[in-house]
Amino acid sequence: MSEQRVALVTGSSSGIGAAVARRLAEAGFRVVVNSARSVEAGEALAAELPDAVYRQADVSDERQAAGLVAAAVEAYGRLDVLVNCAGTTRFIPHDDLEAATPDIWRLLYDVNVIGVWQTITAAVPHLKETGGSVVNISSQAGVRPGGSSIPYAVSKAAVNHMTKLLAKTLGPDVRVNAVAPGFVDTPWFDGVEGADAAKAHVAGAVPLRRVGRPEDIAQAVCDLAHASYITGEVLLVDGGGHLLG
Ligand code: NAD
Repeated sequence: MSEQRVALVTGSSSGIGAAVARRLAEAGFRVVVNSARSVEAGEALAAELPDAVYRQADVSDERQAAGLVAAAVEAYGRLDVLVNCAGTTRFIPHDDLEAATPDIWRLLYDVNVIGVWQTITAAVPHLKETGGSVVNISSQAGVRPGGSSIPYAVSKAAVNHMTKLLAKTLGPDVRVNAVAPGFVDTPWFDGVEGADAAKAHVAGAVPLRRVGRPEDIAQAVCDLAHASYITGEVLLVDGGGHLLG
């Protein structure tokens, strides 16, 4: 087994995932960059990092999720850190119950919950070999009642609970933690009505008086990936937003 540690970051062609990939590369990891669709952006990021490859895969597809983990191990011979950042949403006012259709629930669960589950289960045998760890990107919306839609918030609450259950189950071999970001300025909000107003509101209200940057989340992910005695933790990275009434 080669000595240099290897990280797989799902959903890393842009936003938070791209910042995580950069940060882990700075920390000396070889990195596998992934996205379901934005191939050019993913390949460009991999080319920019000192030692990285890009692999396209949709984590909501069981075969593709398993294939992604296999491709990472094939490329670099080991896996030390899995960061589940791939996620999706639909922006739906919480009081518009009819708009949150069962199809939308299924779509968000397929990516945000089952996608995370099936990537982790494929990765566990390899993480056990290296004593590695998982960091899931959930959301403040999974901790407090808010967020882009009810199905999204519930899917992220499921990720938080999955994180704790798996931490209990996979110890002492594999640590499992989550980072729950507040509002972070990324392409996630491109073209979303009201996003600028929401951003200004958050920046004016949270104790740290600004919205998050992808690098803020990447720092926390990297810290948890290295934190040898932390497992089952859901770390809010929200500028203190959870302190507001
Ligand atoms: P983004 O749109 O910039 O990034 C999303 C990434 O996920 C992209 O790389 C996209 O290609 C990838 N992706 C989407 N579906 C996928 C799939 N099925 N398989 C593989 N890759 C897929 O947005 P972002 O803000 O960087 O979001 C990243 C994560 O952070 C998401 O899980 C999101 O829920 C979470 N999050 C974001 C915020 C925020 O304010 N931006 C807040 C809390 C949580």
